[in-house]
Amino acid sequence: MPMDKNTSITIAGAGLVGSLLAIYLARRGYQVRLFERRKDPRIARALGVVGEGRSINLAISERGLSALEHVGLKAAILEQAVPMRGRLMHAQDSSTTFQAYGADDTQAINSISRGWLNCFLLDEAEKFDNVEMHFEHRVNSVDMVKKCLTITDTAHQKERQVFYDYLIGTDGSASAVRETLTRKNVTSETESELSHGYKEFVMDADGPGRFKMEKNALHIWPRGPFMMIALPNEDGSYTCTLFLSHKSTESSYYSFAALDDDKKISDFFTSQFPDFCKLVPNFLAQYHEHPTGRMVTVKSAPWGQKAVQLMGDAAHAIVPFFGQGMNAGFEDVHVFDTLLDKHSDWNALFEEFYQARKVNTDAIADMAVENFVEMSAKTADEKFLYQKKVEKLLHEKFPDEYVSRYSLVSFSQAPYSVARQVGEKQEIILKSLSDKYFPSLDIDWQYAHKLVETHLGEIKNKFSTFL
Ligand SMILES: Cc1cc2nc3c(=O)[nH]c(=O)nc-3n(C[C@H](O)[C@H](O)[C@H](O)COP(=O)(O)OP(=O)(O)OC[C@H]3O[C@@H](n4cnc5c(N)ncnc54)[C@H](O)[C@@H]3O)c2cc1C
Repeated sequence: MPMDKNTSITIAGAGLVGSLLAIYLARRGYQVRLFERRKDPRIARALGVVGEGRSINLAISERGLSALEHVGLKAAILEQAVPMRGRLMHAQDSSTTFQAYGADDTQAINSISRGWLNCFLLDEAEKFDNVEMHFEHRVNSVDMVKKCLTITDTAHQKERQVFYDYLIGTDGSASAVRETLTRKNVTSETESELSHGYKEFVMDADGPGRFKMEKNALHIWPRGPFMMIALPNEDGSYTCTLFLSHKSTESSYYSFAALDDDKKISDFFTSQFPDFCKLVPNFLAQYHEHPTGRMVTVKSAPWGQKAVQLMGDAAHAIVPFFGQGMNAGFEDVHVFDTLLDKHSDWNALFEEFYQARKVNTDAIADMAVENFVEMSAKTADEKFLYQKKVEKLLHEKFPDEYVSRYSLVSFSQAPYSVARQVGEKQEIILKSLSDKYFPSLDIDWQYAHKLVETHLGEIKNKFSTFL
């Protein structure tokens, strides 16, 4: 039964997930109000100010694109994106190796500007008469009994009280809505900070629209306990990110804390990333200018009660090593929308949404942490690269039975929890084959098929419908 269209839905946070959610809900005819702490990012953009010290570009893949397609926005977004067809690894001697992401050249993840995407979604949301947007309005707390938000209008330094019918908190990893729910013991949360931080660098274009490195790849400088990555921007520049431990440990001599003077910083960069230093000659100035960011995994449970719900990073922030945080948040929005067709009672809707998503967002949170090791250490490891080649051959020979975990996460909408289980089984298969055959690719494929059947036979029907 459809819900009453006069229902007013208040969204706290007009970032990527909040603005897409506004579009979805407005299309259904609900009265939508957005409260956003920052100034309208479109004003800064019009003045030529880009980025806010946090990942200037991001990778969007199947889940995010599918959520955008549902509201007719996929094509416009892909027009602004740069496809990345694989990882291009830069060794310390500056030699490079390419490893395709997908089974063929058509499978790619896409690099897109965070600022542009947020502004585009806000523009699209604003096209609806039933959407109201309030920038420079910071949500402070929620009174769940009175159904009332306390908000500070930061432009005028005034506090306001705003009543809601339903409230959805999309106010990011440090969510004020979640903080209230936690304080009132409605929700419990765990927040684990990664021992690594990150710092961004810009590699300028080699002239307008000209790229200094391979355009259609995600570049990685894997160095074990730390790494640098670079994603291309449409204008020919790259956003590069150094992931490094905050403090030195037994496994990492280098750390942000240890790089405490210019000589140490320069020596670190020139010895570890010599090709990068040639392409980004002002790396030292950028090192000082750009902040060091922290990365957290937030798991909360449940995501709401009594007309309040969390979504996106507010419910489940994850570390960026699978490029899935925004994708998972967009998938939240799509799943929520699908459930709106089914329920007339919002509490039942919120409960089913939580049950459907929680197991999956927990799974991608764990896979994202694990993927740091894959990107920073294993991509430089011969056995790992061998296993990736075997994996590609397994997919070519048994395309319906063997689809890599990476492909299930990035190029399908199979539940993240299924991708995780499949990945565990695939590790067993790849280890068996590499123990028996490494470094040869002259493999007994009948034997390999038996392994695939044994380990993936039962779980196959959980992902095959999503391919
Ligand atoms: C370095 C890095 C790289 C990443 N790369 C990728 C990637 O490649 N692919 C990918 O899918 N994901 C990536 N992510 C994750 C992605 O950035 C997040 O998952 C995504 O931004 C979540 O969107 P959101 O709208 O839930 O939260 P946010 O984008 O954080 O938006 C929250 C919004 O709420 C506002 N807000 C906060 N507090 C309040 C308040 N009290 N009142 C009102 N408004 C408030 C904020 O100003 C903001 O606009 C990356 C993250 C990082 C840190």
